[in-house]
Amino acid sequence: MARRPLIAGNWKLHLTVAESTALAAAVAQGLAQSPTAAEVVVCPTALAVAPVAATLAQSPVGVGVQHAHWEDKGAFTGEISMPLAKAAGARFVIIGHSERRQYFGESDATVNKRLAAALKHGLTPIVCIGETLEERQAGRLQEVLERQVRGALAGFTAEQLRPLVIAYEPVWAIGTGVVATTAQAQEAHAFVRGLLRAVVGDLADEIRIQYGGSVKPDNARDLLAQPDVDGALVGGASLKAADFLAIVAAAR
Ligand code: PEP
Repeated sequence: MARRPLIAGNWKLHLTVAESTALAAAVAQGLAQSPTAAEVVVCPTALAVAPVAATLAQSPVGVGVQHAHWEDKGAFTGEISMPLAKAAGARFVIIGHSERRQYFGESDATVNKRLAAALKHGLTPIVCIGETLEERQAGRLQEVLERQVRGALAGFTAEQLRPLVIAYEPVWAIGTGVVATTAQAQEAHAFVRGLLRAVVGDLADEIRIQYGGSVKPDNARDLLAQPDVDGALVGGASLKAADFLAIVAAAR
């Protein structure tokens, strides 16, 4: 079945609130001029989610948070929760980004808990997986992806996982300018699709698998043309409206 491409911008720890709303407005304006069949989402810092959602209220562009706690509320200084994100206007949540895994102790077990909270509150989860360069070079690509996928999805029924989005992001390609070849991306995506099939059966054909890692206007078209690449999670290139819009335009 046809999967609608999902192009998501991860703004990471960049942009003031004013800069965020200006970028969101520029993205919305660009899409109004060149409509797309793809689904488009931007993920600003938590501080900018509500104003960006207000800016995009009349636009098809969705808003996501980059991270949220699995608990709804409590004594968790510095955290935001899924219900708070939703109330602020977010419809998506990135879970388990490699930067969270690398710097903030994110594990497959905490990804699993965050996924449960996202599904409970009706946020579309974008679960990030991907191998380091050392793991790839040691021939452990499939083992790592299997551990991450099975760990993230443990305990859910297929029906519960219907809204799931996976982002395959080889760690060595994130923010480095080194992009996976189309063959590397397709091979990993097809493998992940097979893992999904083992977990959720035929629903695997409906779950979108985004590629992430140095996606730019000049490489997006070839990556997005791969049969199992259903969109992109874009970091650096999502910070410029023209670049992000060019990537959106590259989606089939
Ligand atoms: C990301 O942040 O998920 C990412 C893929 O970043 P970049 O596009 O900058 O490599």
